[in-house]
Amino acid sequence: MMVPMEQALLFEARARVLADLQARGAADAAAVSALEDAVAQRRWWAEQWPEGEVYVAGLVAQDVQDALFDTAGRWPLCHVCDVTVPVHTLHIQPDLGGPDPYWVCEERGEPVAPLGSL
Ligand SMILES: [Zn+2]
Repeated sequence: MMVPMEQALLFEARARVLADLQARGAADAAAVSALEDAVAQRRWWAEQWPEGEVYVAGLVAQDVQDALFDTAGRWPLCHVCDVTVPVHTLHIQPDLGGPDPYWVCEERGEPVAPLGSL
């Protein structure tokens, strides 16, 4: 039996965001719960708009980033800039969430890593 397309996409989106949470030691119970909520909401969204599938992974990452901002704090922090620069976060580019979402340093506007490869 084949896995439906949205299922596979959402599974991949979840895996990539989880990898980046783990890379920064941020994958605690609250963060994983926020991730599950984001995936559930984007599942509905992807069903309504199948052409939006390339945006799903980046949107899930942005949803989790927003959820953590209200609770655990900023994620993911930029580790590539000099320590003299104030602490700042990475953002998903393109803003729409895709295609090919990657993390960009908000200070320098430079790509840091593809989503899932922090
Ligand atoms: Zn930076």
